[in-house]
This record gives sequence, structure tokens and C-alpha cells, in this order.
Amino acid sequence: MTDKPLKPRTIAAQALGAIEPETKGVALPVHVSTTFIRDPDNQYRTGYVYGRPDNATIRQTEAVIAALEGAHEALLFGSGMAAATSVILALPPGSHILAPQVCYWGFRDWLINEAPLFGYRVDLADMSSVEAVRAAIKPDTKLVWIETPANPLWNITDIAAVAEIAHAKGAVLAIDSTAATPVFTRPLTLGADIVMHSATKYLNGHSDVIAGALAAARDDALWTRIKQVRGHHGAILGPFEAWLLLRGLRTLEVRVRAQAESAALLATRFANHQSVSRVLYPGLPSHPGHAVAARQMSGFGGMLSIRLKGGERAAIDAAARVALWKRATSLGGVESLIEHRASIEGPNSPCPPDLLRLSAGLEDVDDLYNDLDRALRAANV
Ligand SMILES: *Cc1c(COP(=O)(O)O)cnc(C)c1O
Repeated sequence: MTDKPLKPRTIAAQALGAIEPETKGVALPVHVSTTFIRDPDNQYRTGYVYGRPDNATIRQTEAVIAALEGAHEALLFGSGMAAATSVILALPPGSHILAPQVCYWGFRDWLINEAPLFGYRVDLADMSSVEAVRAAIKPDTKLVWIETPANPLWNITDIAAVAEIAHAKGAVLAIDSTAATPVFTRPLTLGADIVMHSATKYLNGHSDVIAGALAAARDDALWTRIKQVRGHHGAILGPFEAWLLLRGLRTLEVRVRAQAESAALLATRFANHQSVSRVLYPGLPSHPGHAVAARQMSGFGGMLSIRLKGGERAAIDAAARVALWKRATSLGGVESLIEHRASIEGPNSPCPPDLLRLSAGLEDVDDLYNDLDRALRAANV
């Protein structure tokens, strides 16, 4: 072994090289024990006392995510929403939070409708504009939340620039990096303080686990509070889900690189399609966030959206006619998904009604193109 730091692909493929100590198995067991034996002298020496905070399968998976993000430490949660809301609930009541106008709708909904019930003050800003962030941040802002690329328009936020603005006010920068994955963006190296993932999506990658993760740049008072919130609220992941996630993580690099390659090809081909008015994909030079994305991402991800000349009816109709694409919400799995996003986000969404959100899976990209091309042509006549 050299003493050079291992590349993410190596970290993920070997799950940090962990071996099961008793049998030397290369696959780790699922640790299910909820409680652990106390020593005769009344001490606990193993670091394991009770299953809510202490589980070896959870810790192993957290260690892999922390290594992938270059983080001090990572924590798993029962879902992406549990991870995101735990960051907010760790702040003192009354804190001001700056959040994106365009982001995962479930979290925006919680920030607008529920965070105020806990005493938080929330403002939304256009996070794709550094000037808008500068204008919206307040002297007492405690947290700036961003998501990049952001659902479902794939708006790009300049992480380093917003980190500087946040830190100048003494605020923390937290980022939902679900769509980017640690393969394409390492937000902590760009100045972010906390990274959040819906591990349900790319990190697990097989549409069979609901999970969330946070990764922190450093051990500080906020991180300690976040751990307390997870413990007190019981927002934990089950050991079997953590084990599935660890298994999914081993192929993260190859999966997301192949998905991004397909997404880029689909974006280019649909940009020239007769039924499509606009393709939203950060890898296209026509995307308003392309230059920033090219600077802070090593690939543009597997998510894109297309807007149809035929409007909402054409979008819903095209989604109804696909055979290979799966008509479902969520993203980041091995199977490609198509979704009329405005239908799920509801009336207060910034999502245009003519938009179809596409999550590129691992199928052959020609098969994917041909299936959707046929559906688009049929929908428009
Ligand atoms: C799915 C998703 C979430 C919510 O995660 P869950 O695991 O469903 O709770 C948050 N942010 C983004 C970007 C997502 O795609």
C-alpha cells in the first residue's frame, strides 16, 4: 500500500476494506443486537451500549459515506427528510434560515409550513444567483440551505461563493447533494459545512431502501446537537437497510458515471427533438448554470428534465405512453424513471406544467431514447 489517500472508487468498492473478524468474510454481517453486555466491573468498553445510538452496521456504512465526502464524520437517518429536518431542529428556535426557491418539494413544504411551528424564520431565495443570496441573507441568519443541482430544474448554486457569503454572517452552509453524489461534487472541499443526501437515491441506487445521510466538515457544537436530535427523535435507520445501502455504495462510482453518460447523451438528443421546447441539464452549454457546474462538478449527473412544446397535456400523455421508462417518482436507481413533476409537487410549485423529469438508469441509452422518442411522437399528433 502507498500512503497516498485512496480514491473514492476504491473506498466504495471495498467498503473501506473492512473484513468480518471472526470468519475473515469480505462481506460484513448485519448487526442486529439492540443491547450489549456490560463488563462485571459495571463499565462499557466496546463503544456499544444500546442499539438506537450504537450499531456496527450503521457505523460501517457511515464511515464509508464520511470517507467519500472527505468528512469528519457521517450519520445515517431513517430517510433523507429525517436527515434534513434534523439539521434544522438542531438550531436554536427563532433562528433565521435561508433556503432555496427551487429544491426538493417535500423539504421546501416542511420549511414553509412546519419549521415556523418550531419557531424558525425561513426565507426563500434564488440560490442560482450569488447576488440574490447576498441580498437575502440577514445579519442573524444561522443557516443557509442549498441544493445543487436542484430539483426539478437542475439549477446550479455556486457552492464556494455562497459558503463565503454564509460564513461572513457567521452562518452555516448545508447542502442537499443528492443529485450530485460525492462522485461528482465534494461540497466540503468547496466550503460547505454539512452535506445531506437522500441515500434512497444514488447512494443506495437500487430503489429498495429509504435512507438519509449527513456528513460534517468538523466536530462542533452543531454536529453534537444533530447527533442529540437523531437520538432523541429516534430518527435512525434499521441495520438491514444500512447493510443494503453499504452493498449499494460499493458500485456507486460505476453506476453514477454510466448514468451521467446516458443523461448527457439523452440531453443532447432531446435538445434537437421536434416535440421538445427545452432540455434542462447542467451539462448542456445552454443551461444557465453550466459554467459554475463545470467548475465545481467532475460530471453533470444522471438527472435531466425536458419541457414539451405541447404543454401539460402532451407531457402527461407522453409519460403515459412509455414502455421502458418507469412512470414513477424518485430518482437515482438502476431503472430509468419518468415523472410529470408538477402533478406531485402541487399548486405552489415552481415546476412548469410542461416538464417531464427523467432519471437515467443503467439500460442501453438507445433503448431509452427510442422508447421516449416514440412516446413523444405519439403524444403530439
Ligand atoms: C428524495 C429526496 C429527498 C428526500 O429524501 P427521502 O429519502 O425520500 O426522505 C431530499 N432531497 C432530494 C434532492 C431528494 O431527491
